[in-house]
Amino acid sequence: MSRPEIEVRALHKSFGANEVLRGIDLEIGRGEVVCVIGPSGSGKSTLLRCVNLLEEPTKGQVFVGGTELTDPDVDIDAVRRRIGMVFQQFNLFPHLTVTENLTLPQRRVLRRDKAAAAQVAAENLARVGLSEKAAAYPSSLSGGQQQRVAIARALAMGPEVMLFDEPTSALDPELVGDVLAVMRMLADEGMTMMVVTHEMTFAREVADRVVFMDDGVIVEDGTPEQVIGNPRHDRTRHFLSRLL
Ligand code: ADP
Ligand code: MG
Repeated sequence: MSRPEIEVRALHKSFGANEVLRGIDLEIGRGEVVCVIGPSGSGKSTLLRCVNLLEEPTKGQVFVGGTELTDPDVDIDAVRRRIGMVFQQFNLFPHLTVTENLTLPQRRVLRRDKAAAAQVAAENLARVGLSEKAAAYPSSLSGGQQQRVAIARALAMGPEVMLFDEPTSALDPELVGDVLAVMRMLADEGMTMMVVTHEMTFAREVADRVVFMDDGVIVEDGTPEQVIGNPRHDRTRHFLSRLL
């Protein structure tokens, strides 16, 4: 079997005296979609941020595509280019058009020329169904549209892996579906995805695996039927019962 696309080994992360991740082991295969669920403060965002080294682990190892990110000699910028990240807040540049939001990182980071970057931007805006918004400014878009632009911006960099941190939590309920539909399309296309979410329907229908975290550890890791449908641990049951 080929090596997992994402490998986290014995990962610990402390902020001062606060140990937030207390020994995380996780493997995500190529093309696999893993949803991470758990209560607020359990360490989900910190784990995601350790997977692209936005946070530096205190101990342990992280591998993406076989490259160890936690190796002090690694070219972290080169590895990060292979990892797309989408946050709860869309973080678009307000003074740039939608197209410019997509071309700027391609030109700065990948050194693509203007025409090539514009071409890739157009392709990815089409993928998320927003071709007609190419010349618009973010403030004229709904939250759901802005988040789809943020996803297109990440995709325009050609990532091998996509990380999502509660991508629909800041959206009005009626806008959530369009963003989830784009994520579902990516999953169907075979993208490797790690998704922190409270959207249990999405987790049930799209995830290959669901990971339940509590208090800095992985409590359960299994199929959606196992973890959501038939949780083995009281902590998982308690968490799920509060979502309903
Ligand atoms: P979750 O995403 O599951 O809600 P987080 O990973 O955001 O949890 O946070 C887990 C814990 O780590 C919380 O107690 C939070 O206060 C703490 N924490 C997260 N980021 C930082 C930081 N940059 N500095 C200090 N503490 C942090
Ligand atoms: Mg979080």
